[in-house]
Amino acid sequence: MTGTVDVVAIDGPAGTGKSTVAGQLAQRVGAHYLDTGAMYRAATLAVLRAGIDPADDAATGPVVAAADIRVSAGADGATIATLDGADVSREIRTDEVTAAVSPVSANPVVREKLVALQREHAVDDFLVVEGRDIGTVVFPTAALKVYLTATPEARSERRHRQNLAAGRASDLDEVLASVNRRDHLDSTRAVSPLRPADDAVHVDTSDLTLQQVLDRLTELVGERIGVRDV
Ligand code: C5P
Repeated sequence: MTGTVDVVAIDGPAGTGKSTVAGQLAQRVGAHYLDTGAMYRAATLAVLRAGIDPADDAATGPVVAAADIRVSAGADGATIATLDGADVSREIRTDEVTAAVSPVSANPVVREKLVALQREHAVDDFLVVEGRDIGTVVFPTAALKVYLTATPEARSERRHRQNLAAGRASDLDEVLASVNRRDHLDSTRAVSPLRPADDAVHVDTSDLTLQQVLDRLTELVGERIGVRDV
């Protein structure tokens, strides 16, 4: 340990392979992994359970403020999310949550709470953090910022295959429409819109395998951070 926090910030739109890449990169380089999307998803689940309109900021703010949301990585690297003490890791991936997450995430009260929670993970450690505003807002001094991109078609194909592999019903056209809708909402919101940090390294994953993306990012970590004694 050096006593400093080294952060690798990985941002990008839905379906670029961010979660898989960030989780596996963290394991490769011996860092902790934080999936911030899981926090917004758990907040959205709290809103849906309360039966309120996800776009009604005045109503969603207090519900999310009162919710106990925790996200960590399990031994296998997979994200574990809890809401008020109960494991909701699977529930936060349903279509219902995915459809409602962008309006809930656009609420400044929700962002303030979750950004503070995310920063609590940065205690004397080596972290790979994945989301939409990590390099721009949450950790603007991150040692390495990566912005993953891919064509909407490539991203939808990927999501569609993930859905089928997980045994979820999936329609490619619907997945493409959902990806485009989320991109639009996430990149046009007033607070912390999805955009690359000025000093982010762009990596287009459309024609790369997971292994190739991991190799590129491992190389970047080596250049910017070096091998850490963790
Ligand atoms: O990455 P994932 O698809 O799980 O993110 C779900 C949603 O959470 C995004 O579409 C976005 O609305 C929101 N999000 C965010 N800021 C982050 C991470 C996720 O607004 N840092």
